[in-house]
Amino acid sequence: MNETKILLSEAEMPEAWYNVQADLPNLPKPPLHPVTKQPVGPEDLASIFPMELIKQEASTEKWIPIPDEIREIYRLWRPSPLIRARRLEKALDTPARIYFKYEGVSPAGSHKLNTAVPQAYYNKVEGIKRLATETGAGQWGSALSMACQFFGLECTVYMVKVSYQQKPYRRSLMQIFGGEVIPSPSDRTESGRRALAANPDSPGSLGLAISEAVEDAVHRPDTNYALGSVLNHVLLHQTIIGLETKAQLAKAGEQADIAIGCCGGGSNFSGFAFPFLDDMINKGTKTRLIAVEPTACPTLTRGKLAYDFGDVAGLTPLIYMYTLGKDFMPPGIHAGGLRYHGDAPLLCQATKDGFIEPVAYGQKKVFESAILFARNEGIVPAPETAHAVACAVEQAIACREAGERKTIVFAFSGHGHFDLAAYDNYLAGELEDYPLPEDELQKALAGLPQV
Ligand SMILES: *Cc1c(COP(=O)(O)O)cnc(C)c1O
Repeated sequence: MNETKILLSEAEMPEAWYNVQADLPNLPKPPLHPVTKQPVGPEDLASIFPMELIKQEASTEKWIPIPDEIREIYRLWRPSPLIRARRLEKALDTPARIYFKYEGVSPAGSHKLNTAVPQAYYNKVEGIKRLATETGAGQWGSALSMACQFFGLECTVYMVKVSYQQKPYRRSLMQIFGGEVIPSPSDRTESGRRALAANPDSPGSLGLAISEAVEDAVHRPDTNYALGSVLNHVLLHQTIIGLETKAQLAKAGEQADIAIGCCGGGSNFSGFAFPFLDDMINKGTKTRLIAVEPTACPTLTRGKLAYDFGDVAGLTPLIYMYTLGKDFMPPGIHAGGLRYHGDAPLLCQATKDGFIEPVAYGQKKVFESAILFARNEGIVPAPETAHAVACAVEQAIACREAGERKTIVFAFSGHGHFDLAAYDNYLAGELEDYPLPEDELQKALAGLPQV
């Protein structure tokens, strides 16, 4: 087989998600109630999540069937193609074979619809009328708005204010899909009003927008909350990426030597990498799993493994994860989706146990690789995705230097058609690297809650 696009038919789409909780040798410490500091039970979560998602959150069943109603919508863009980046290989003069799993074909433009659809579905089935959520760069907000529209739910999106101002077209997209978009901090919630009182010009942050959305959901019985990353059930839904990729590699007669993904909260990376981890644990295969984050928000590479809140106001359960501290204010780098202070607990545990190698890159190197990729493959990566591209390029160059014919596969989490202002900045030479200063990191970590 010597194809460039490796495709699966709709009939070959996976029928179940893969749950890594069945296989990891160590599970992360449980989330704790923000007030009592006792492990949270299903009843604590029931005010903001449907029971089916709460069950998935704690399940240790290896395979969770994907309901037909969800598969029906997945069919709009799934199975997504696995594409061999032949022109990039040539440009790099590498003996390595480079493949990317292209999630940009989703109608929302990224992998986020893979979980937005099941989340809207399970809420709908349990009688919920409206979902509240936050969005950073706007990808999650547009995916959830679309999924809510498909199932006849209302959707309110608290959008980090700086993104609201910088990315007006993402806002338009959410509104086209029927979402209500509110710049955060807003005066609609206690958390928002407190932030505005402290700083009327606050640019907002993902952690703060989460506080607003959770507060909104807690106060209305017809409303639940939805999160686009970090939680176990989100990672579970995203495993369809890795499951399809494995089937596609098998079709092409390939074994992945290196699997790469960018990491914000960890959902696309985990969804891509965990099915490989299954084979590593249960079949003894060897794949290097590399998670790439920005040096400006280096959660896995420099954060502390500790209990921390998921949001700024401290409304969410305490989550055991690598964290930069919930008060960490990420600089305005362009990869908005990679600016969260924490990371998914399952990914953190797998990293601590040595299954995953985290690396961090500055944004100049990242955009340089993104341009190289775009000019050879014709696809403009989202700035988040460009972190994975940069790692694939680096590994392909290492193969050239070592004369090694490895198979490199990366998760192409989304296209960058709404991020052209960032590319403008790069092309004008105006992009800066922001390595996080150590004293700032220590200051943010000093605020970690005592448990
Ligand atoms: C949101 C987003 C990310 C980061 O989120 P993860 O949960 O780490 O996957 C990466 N790429 C794209 C295109 C995104 O929209």
